[in-house]
Amino acid sequence: MELTFDWDDWRAQLQHRITTLEALQRWIAVSPGEAQAIAACDGRYRWSVTPYYASLMDQDDPKCPVRQLAVPRLEEFQLYPGASVDPVGDTVYRKTNRVIHKYPDRVIVLVTELCAVYCRHCTRKYHTTDLGGTYFEQGENASWEPDFAYIEQHPEVRDVLLTGGDPLVYSDERLESILARLRAIPHVEIIRIGSRIPVVLPQRITENLAAMLERYHPLWLNTHFNHPKEITPAAAAACDRLLRHGIVVQNQSVLLKGINDDLPTMRRLMTELLKISVRPYYLYHCDNAIGISQFVTTLEEGRALMRGLKGYLTGFGVPEYVITTPLGKIPLCEEYLHQDEAGYWVENYRGQRMVLDKALLFAEEPMVAEPALKE
Ligand code: SF4
Repeated sequence: MELTFDWDDWRAQLQHRITTLEALQRWIAVSPGEAQAIAACDGRYRWSVTPYYASLMDQDDPKCPVRQLAVPRLEEFQLYPGASVDPVGDTVYRKTNRVIHKYPDRVIVLVTELCAVYCRHCTRKYHTTDLGGTYFEQGENASWEPDFAYIEQHPEVRDVLLTGGDPLVYSDERLESILARLRAIPHVEIIRIGSRIPVVLPQRITENLAAMLERYHPLWLNTHFNHPKEITPAAAAACDRLLRHGIVVQNQSVLLKGINDDLPTMRRLMTELLKISVRPYYLYHCDNAIGISQFVTTLEEGRALMRGLKGYLTGFGVPEYVITTPLGKIPLCEEYLHQDEAGYWVENYRGQRMVLDKALLFAEEPMVAEPALKE
């Protein structure tokens, strides 16, 4: 394909994002199901793919993991049993337009609802991808002062996680104004950024960005590779650029049915991450959120995979398998996961317990109408 823009320019990549069936057909042979799902997204779900990420797709195989992660599918429009809008309970702990305070010493700040690629498995689909919803009660462009004020007024907050959406879609200047303001709060000890940009738009990790981030140490970056196919020379170079500026890069994968739920793929993902000096940190059990249920595996499958990693890989190459619940993140290992005649129940770090089915059914009042499958 003849390119009409500078491939290495991240802004050009964003400007040339693929958002129509016709544009996608220039990259892959779109299947009838994918075409139907793209039409069904109209007015319902955002979708977009950077040309870089599209270039990783298998042109002919709709089962290609990169395709499944980025191209809409009809399964997204089916409502699965127990699926809810917010199974992890973020809205329960929302304190301001952007701040979620779930753990005593740390907060999540939802910087934006925008992403370079709208992952079909996004657990915050309601915030990022659903055109009918957002966590932002006052909109994305509302003043940040109430958010900063909340953090200032809570001296117990020593750790701030900037996430979204993807914070790295913002310009260096806009990001720096947020980081500088946070760094001016004496009790904020560490700042973390959650971003899938190294995976879907590695061109964004410029020397300027890495140098700017370095000024706000200690700063950690957690990224989100799900499949070894995503670990390309460009992605490796992006992570390397961050690492050379002293920014620790860790990876949080999601266990996804049909994408990485087999042992050879999972082992290769972890070993390829180690080769680019990115530490596997978490393996999330996929949340049963509306629109992503099709990716959920069973706990047994996840635990079997973990048994195939532990000991077979170096210790720091094995992520911790966790589930996010309204009680917080819970490791899915014997100490915190229990089973009796009623099924699985989990216990968090404070000893609070919940039946796991309840976690999956957390949103008792649906916040959006049930999505209908368009024919
Ligand atoms: S980049 Fe992150 S926030 Fe955005 S759609 Fe993907 S998983 Fe969701």
